[in-house]
Amino acid sequence: MLPAYDNHAELDALHLLTQLVQTIEVGLVVLDTDLNIAHWNSFMENHSGLRSSDVRNQSLFACFPDLPKQWLTSKLNTAFLLNNRAFTTWEQRPYIFKFPNSRPVTGQSPFMYQNLTIQPLSNRNGQVKHVALLIYDVTVEANHRQALSKMSKVDTLTGLANRRSWQEHLDREMERCRRYKQSATLMVLDIDHFKSINDTLGHSAGDEVLAQVGEQLKALIRKSDIAARYGGEEFTLLLPETKLEPATLLAERIRSSISKLEVETESGLAKFTVSIGLASYTGKVKNQSHWFQCADQALYQAKEQGRNRCVSYQF
Ligand code: GH3
Ligand code: MG
Ligand code: MG
Repeated sequence: MLPAYDNHAELDALHLLTQLVQTIEVGLVVLDTDLNIAHWNSFMENHSGLRSSDVRNQSLFACFPDLPKQWLTSKLNTAFLLNNRAFTTWEQRPYIFKFPNSRPVTGQSPFMYQNLTIQPLSNRNGQVKHVALLIYDVTVEANHRQALSKMSKVDTLTGLANRRSWQEHLDREMERCRRYKQSATLMVLDIDHFKSINDTLGHSAGDEVLAQVGEQLKALIRKSDIAARYGGEEFTLLLPETKLEPATLLAERIRSSISKLEVETESGLAKFTVSIGLASYTGKVKNQSHWFQCADQALYQAKEQGRNRCVSYQF
C-alpha cells in the first residue's frame, strides 16, 4: 500500500499523462481484443465528429464501415499475436480514417493523408490485451512530395527522361513533324523475360539491369534523341529527323550491344536481350497515342516472332 503522499503524486502524474494523450495532435485509438474501442482521444473526436462517449465499447468496424476491414484486421491480429509494432504510410494507403483535410489550401487534397502505427500494449502480466492505433496527419508532407514528383522530369533509377517528360517531347515532335513535314522515328524497347531476372537474381539485380540498359541507351544515341524509361522494363526513344532506315540500323545496334552485355549484380551475372518496335512518322499518324500504338504493335510482333529482334510498323 502506497503512503497517501505518493498516491497523490501518482494520481497527479496520471492526470497529466491523460491530458497529454487527450490533447496530443496525433490520433489515438485503443482497441481491445474484440476490436472494440477502449479509448478515443480529442484528435479523433475533432476529425471524426464522434465523441469518445459515442464510440467507447463499440466495435471499430461498426462505427466505421468504410475502413479496410480485411487488411486492418490482419494487421491488428498480427500485433495481438506476435506483439509486433507495425507501420504503414500514406504511400501504401493514403488514409485509414477518411477525415476531411483540416487545413485545405488551393490544389491540396480534400482528405487528410495519414500514416499509421499499430502499437501493441501489454498489461502488467505482459499479455497483449490492447493495441493502440496512432494516426498521424501527413497531408502537408504528402502534398509537397506529390508536387515535387510532378515537377520532376527524370527517372531516378536510370537518369533518363521519365514518362511524363517524354510525353511532352513527343507532343512537341509530333507537332513539328505535322507542321513542317519532318521525319522522326519512335522506338519502344522492352527487356525480354525480365520477370525471370527478378525471379532468379532478385529485384535489386533487376534494378541494376534497368540502370545498365539506361547507360547503354545513353551511350548509343545522339544528343538530339530523347531516351526515356516509359515504365517498368519498357523504354522509349524518340529520334527527330530520322527516317525508318537509319533508325532501324540504330535499333539493331542497340539490340546487338545489349545482347552482349554482362551485368555483374550482387547475386550473379545477368545476361538478357531486348525486343524493339519502331514506327516512323507519316501523314497517316493520327495523333501521339496512335503513333505510340503503332510502335507498340511492332514490339508485340517482335515478341511474337521470338524476341531479341527489331520490327518496324508498316503503315
Ligand atoms: P516479355 O519478354 O514478354 O517482355 O516478358 P517479361 O517477363 O519481361 O514481361 P512481364 O511484363 O511479364 O514482366 C515485367 C516485370 O518487370 C514484372 C515486374 O515485376 C518487373 N518490374 C517492373 N518494374 C520494375 C522495376 O522498377 N524494378 C524491377 N526490378 N522490376 C520491375
Ligand atoms: Mg519484358
Ligand atoms: Mg513489358
